Amino acid sequence: MGERPDRLRQLITTARADKRLDWFLDLDGTLVEIALRPEAIVFPRDLCGILRALHRPPLSFVSIVSGRSLPQLQSLFHREAIILAGNHGLEVAGQGISFVHPGAEKASCHLESLADDLRRALAGVPGLILENKQFTLTVHYRLVPVPERGKVARTVEKAAAFHPFLVHRAKESLEIIPRLDWGKGDAVRLILEHTRGPRWEETTVPVCIGDDRTDEDAFGFLRRAGRGVTVRVGPRRADTKAEFRLENPADVREFLRSFVPS
Ligand SMILES: [Mg+2]
Repeated sequence: MGERPDRLRQLITTARADKRLDWFLDLDGTLVEIALRPEAIVFPRDLCGILRALHRPPLSFVSIVSGRSLPQLQSLFHREAIILAGNHGLEVAGQGISFVHPGAEKASCHLESLADDLRRALAGVPGLILENKQFTLTVHYRLVPVPERGKVARTVEKAAAFHPFLVHRAKESLEIIPRLDWGKGDAVRLILEHTRGPRWEETTVPVCIGDDRTDEDAFGFLRRAGRGVTVRVGPRRADTKAEFRLENPADVREFLRSFVPS
C-alpha cells in the first residue's frame, strides 16, 4: 500500500465525525486494473458489493468519475444506483442529475469527422483501437508495436490541430478532449452542489481517488476549496496535487472495504 494509509483512514474517520462522506472514484487503474482492451476489464467479484454498501444516500453518495462514456458506465453499473460521470465529467447522470456539457454536444460532430480522419490515417497500424465515446475520443496504443507508437502520436496531434480539441497523453493511450473550460473537478462540484447544496463544504467530506492526469483536475478543485481528501493511485510522483497515495486498485478496494459498515 502507498504511504500513510492509516493516517488517511484516520483523517477520514475524524472528518466524518460531524459530517457526511462522499466518494468520487475513477474506474480504470483506480478500482480495476487497466486491461489490454477497454472492453476486457475484469471486475473483482466484491467491487459492486463494496460500492453498493458505501452508497447510502443521504449519508454517503458514491460517484464514478471516469473517462469512459456514460452509456458504458451505465452498462457496467446497471445494478448500482450510484452517480455516474462519463467522458471525464462532460456527462453526469444519477440521483436526479441529468447533465451533458453543451459545448461537448456542439463539438461531437467535429469529433466524428476527426475520428474518420484518424481511421483513414491510421488504417493498417496493428493493434490500434480507436474508441469514439461521442464527446471524447480515445486512441489506445497498448497493443501497437513500440516502433509504430511515435507515428500514432504524431498523426493524432496533427489531425487534432485542425479541430477544436486537445490531446492528453494518458496511460498508453491518447485522450482527445474538446477545448472546454470543464474537467473532472467541475463534475465533482456539480454533483456536490446537487446532492449537498451550494454550502456542501459545511456538511460533507468528499474523498476523491484517481490514477491519471484528468483526475488531477478534481484533486485541484478540492485542494482549492480547502476541503476533502485527495488520493492518487500508483507510484510516488512529484507532479500530483493529491495529498495521499495508494499503490494499486487492489489497495484502493481494500481501503474502501474498511469503510463498509459491518
Ligand atoms: Mg484511470
